[in-house]
Amino acid sequence: MSTPEEPARAATTLELPRALVEALLAHARRHFPREACGLLGGRQGRAERFFPTTNQEASPTAYSIPPGEILQVLEKLERERLELVGIFHSHPRGRAYPSAVDIRQAYYPEAVYLIASLAGTEPELRGYRIRGGRVEPVALRVSGEPLRARPSGGRGGLKQLSDGNS
Ligand SMILES: [Zn+2]
Repeated sequence: MSTPEEPARAATTLELPRALVEALLAHARRHFPREACGLLGGRQGRAERFFPTTNQEASPTAYSIPPGEILQVLEKLERERLELVGIFHSHPRGRAYPSAVDIRQAYYPEAVYLIASLAGTEPELRGYRIRGGRVEPVALRVSGEPLRARPSGGRGGLKQLSDGNS
């Protein structure tokens, strides 16, 4: 299904469905002023699933995901043949950039570290790859999938509304 002109940018770009971004930010807001965290599953540079997790630090400046929850998510991903493509946490009052601790504790060099800052008037979401203490930005591309459950046929979706008229 992939077209030849599709950019081969998997290493520096992560695609996220809009609904997933909204779920991330809702999770972050729910835990404000404490940090929120979660894991993202997907494949080939595209996130498909978001798994909110517990922040066992329950802190406004730190997070850690209980190892048991990480294991559960990894098992689910394996069953669904997905990879761990992202690790998310929020910075309730800080900027959307990895802290010194985030960099030191980046144990998954293949994953994109997503950080949402809630410090401004609008939330800011950014992605990074963190390898050997080096931070490289990863471009996030939000794919504008409208709400689900809309039949692709177009007109078919309106049928139910006019049922009573015929
Ligand atoms: Zn952080």
